[in-house]
Amino acid sequence: MRQGGGGVVQVTIVAPSDRPGGVLGTIHRDGWLIERSADCFLASRPEAIAMVERLGLERELIGVEPDARRALIWHAGRAVPVPAGFRLMAPGRTIGILTSPLLSLGGRLRVLRERFVPARGESESDESLEHFAVRRLGREAFDRLVQPLAAGIWTADPQRLSMAAACPEFFAMERDAGSLTAGERARLTQQPASAAASGARYGQFATLASGMEQLPRVWAQELARCGVRFVKGTVRSLCRDEQGAWQLEGAGLDDEASRANAVVVATPASVASGILRATDSTLANDLSSIDYAGSCVVSLGFPRDRVAHRLDAAGMVVPRIASRRILAVSFSSSKFRGRAPDGGVLLRVFLGGALDPEVMELSDAAMVECAVSEVEQLLGTRGEPRITHVERWSHAMPQYHVGHVERVAWIEAAVSRHAGLGLAGAAYTGVGIPQVIASGQGAALKAVRAVTP
Ligand SMILES: Cc1cc2nc3c(=O)[nH]c(=O)nc-3n(C[C@H](O)[C@H](O)[C@H](O)COP(=O)(O)OP(=O)(O)OC[C@H]3O[C@@H](n4cnc5c(N)ncnc54)[C@H](O)[C@@H]3O)c2cc1C
Repeated sequence: MRQGGGGVVQVTIVAPSDRPGGVLGTIHRDGWLIERSADCFLASRPEAIAMVERLGLERELIGVEPDARRALIWHAGRAVPVPAGFRLMAPGRTIGILTSPLLSLGGRLRVLRERFVPARGESESDESLEHFAVRRLGREAFDRLVQPLAAGIWTADPQRLSMAAACPEFFAMERDAGSLTAGERARLTQQPASAAASGARYGQFATLASGMEQLPRVWAQELARCGVRFVKGTVRSLCRDEQGAWQLEGAGLDDEASRANAVVVATPASVASGILRATDSTLANDLSSIDYAGSCVVSLGFPRDRVAHRLDAAGMVVPRIASRRILAVSFSSSKFRGRAPDGGVLLRVFLGGALDPEVMELSDAAMVECAVSEVEQLLGTRGEPRITHVERWSHAMPQYHVGHVERVAWIEAAVSRHAGLGLAGAAYTGVGIPQVIASGQGAALKAVRAVTP
C-alpha cells in the first residue's frame, strides 16, 4: 500500500495464484458442486454476510436445509443425533441429555451435575479443551460428544487446543454464568430460535448457491474495479530501506510492487515468519511457533439408491475412541441444495488432522479407498462412487495451542513497533471465514491510517 498523488492510496495485492481466495475453491463437474475446503460460514457473525451483501450476492445466500439442521455422532455401531440443545460443549436442555442414547446413565447424570461443578478462579489462565471439558462434563461426555464435535471443527489435538483462543465463548460462560449449563440456558432464553439447533451450530451456517469460491472471486473483481492492482508473485522477504519505506523481495514483483509505505502480510504464519525474519527475528520466531496441521477432504458422489442411510442431517462426526480413520463426513447434498445432480448424493469425508498426520502419506487412490470403505461401514453405501475428488491440505490448519492468546498478544505488540506493518489471516484470532475477514479488515484499516496523513 502506498500513497499516490493527491492523497489517493494505491493498493497492490501480491499472490502466487491467479485464483483469489487462498484455500477457498469450488469445482463444478457434471452437475456436482465440490468445495475444496470450507463449504460454509457462520451466519451469526456479521463479517461474511456483510461482505456478501456489499458485493450484491445476497440472492446467492443459502442456509442449511431445514431437514438437515442437526448433527450425528457415531456411537456403538450406529449414527446417533447430538442431544437436543447440546452446543459443542454446552448442555442447553436437560431433556436432551436425559434421553440421549449417546451417554450411559452415569454419564448423563454427570453432565447434568455440570452446573454444580465449581468454577475456576478468575486469575487462572488458559486450559486445554480436553482438560476443561472433562473437568466440567466428565470423561464420558468428552470422549463421546465434545471430542468428535471439536475435531470436526479444529482437527486439533484436544490436549493442546486452547480454550481461551478456540472457544472463548464457552470459556467465558464458566467465568460469567458459573457453568456451561447456566450460560447456555441464559443464551437460549435470549435467543429462543437457536434452541432448535443442536450440535456444532449447523443451523447457523450459510453458503453461496454457486459455491464458496464466488465470494473471493467477486470480491477481487470489485477491488480491481476500485483500482486495486493484482500482481502474480511470491514474496520472500520484507525490510525497510533508509527512507523508511518497505522493500519487498521475491519472484514476479514489478517495481511498483517492490516498494510500499504500508504492508499487510496475509499469508500463513509460517510463511510470514520467513518473510519477516530480516526485519525482526524475535517476531519471526514467535510466528514460526504457531504449529499447523494437515487435513484431507475426499468428496464422493453416489447414486441415491446406493446409500442405505437416510442422510437426514448435515453430517456425522466420529469419536476418536471408535478407532476409525475418518474424522467426520458431511452430507453435502442434504446440507445445501444444488450440490449433486438429480438422483445423486454428495458426501465429504474428512481425514487426517493433528492426531493422524500419517494419512497425508497415502496416495490419492488409497485415500479414496479408505474413504469409500469408511462410508460403506458407517452409512451403508454400496459399490463404487460415480465421482471422486481428493483435496489435500498439508499445512492449512493453524493450531491454537494453550497459550495462543498470549503468543498472539506478543506478536501484535512486536508488529505495532514497526510502523506500516500488519498481519492478517487464520493464524491469529480465529480460523473461521468471518474471523479471517475481520482480521484482514482490521489490518487493512491500520495500513490505510499509516499511509494517510
Ligand atoms: C479443509 C478445510 C475446511 C474448512 N472449512 C471451513 C468452514 O466450513 N467454514 C469456515 O468458516 N472455515 C473453514 N475453514 C477455515 C477457513 O477456510 C480458513 O481458515 C481461511 O479460509 C484461511 O484464510 P487465510 O487467508 O488466513 O489463509 P489462506 O487461505 O491459506 O490464504 C493465504 C494466502 O497467502 C498466499 N501466500 C502464501 N505464501 C505467499 C507468499 N510467499 N507471497 C505472497 N502470498 C503468499 C496464498 O497463496 C494464499 O492466497 C476450513 C479450512 C480447511 C483447510
